[in-house]
Amino acid sequence: MRKRKQQRTFLILAAVVALALASYLPQWLRAPAQPRVNAGVAQLTLHFIDVGQGDCTLIQAGGQSMLIDGGERGSEELVTNYLKAQNVERLDYVVATHPHSDHIGGLAYGVLEAFPVGTIIAPRLSQTHMPTTQTYERFLQCVAQCKQEGAQAVFARAGDTYELGPARFQLLGPLQEDGRNYNNDSVALRLSLGEVGVLMTGDAEQPAEKRMLAEWGEALRAQLMKAGHHGSKTSSTEQFLRAVQPESVVISCGLYNTYGHPSPEVLARCKALGISVCRTDIDGTLVFASDGTTIWRVTE
Ligand SMILES: [Zn+2]
Repeated sequence: MRKRKQQRTFLILAAVVALALASYLPQWLRAPAQPRVNAGVAQLTLHFIDVGQGDCTLIQAGGQSMLIDGGERGSEELVTNYLKAQNVERLDYVVATHPHSDHIGGLAYGVLEAFPVGTIIAPRLSQTHMPTTQTYERFLQCVAQCKQEGAQAVFARAGDTYELGPARFQLLGPLQEDGRNYNNDSVALRLSLGEVGVLMTGDAEQPAEKRMLAEWGEALRAQLMKAGHHGSKTSSTEQFLRAVQPESVVISCGLYNTYGHPSPEVLARCKALGISVCRTDIDGTLVFASDGTTIWRVTE
């Protein structure tokens, strides 16, 4: 009898120890490989895809998908595979923020050919400022091909709004053509779902930010903001950050990039204003989800 009692005590002890150990298992041992988004709660998801030095953002809402930029040439396979893993079968919107290759390279060399496209939005550039790069030529060919297959191609007009499932986005820029610096011709937009706003300004630098500040003021406010121009010091000015009042800033840049992005100045500006910073060069692809009331980072 006594022996049996001892055995039972041992079994209970062993069970308690096993439970305690399981709760201390490192997070990564239990984490799923793909970002897990609670579809029942989140109505909007944003994926800042790690394409090295470049920009590429997938936004999904209510079964619709939008891609803002496609990274540099060479990212097309990574981007296409990522989109397919997120069950993207069609891109309802593709925004090509401006003609630099770290934004349209992937679009021109594979992404636009890989999916049926609904509407392509790009900045209007006057004939004298039209880029002559091979990548831009190829991008225009892809757009022409998409149009043949039924896509619409429109020039960005600040103030225009579009619907993406239950979410909507409003174009806030470009407000005027720069021409000398394509960064300032970037398509900027504010995506919203309920009370949640996300601001993305492409590579817009100080002059474009200043114009948006004057035009939109408090309407720029957003909980999440993607730092303009990969966190360069010529963007995300203190004035602009104070107007947007983001809780978090996302910086899309490559590890050890030769441009020095993100600049220590921008990181310091964010820190001084109590804004948290997430970086694709350090954290890899960043996923956010929103229910229209709050927005949170989905960790893998
Ligand atoms: Zn860029």
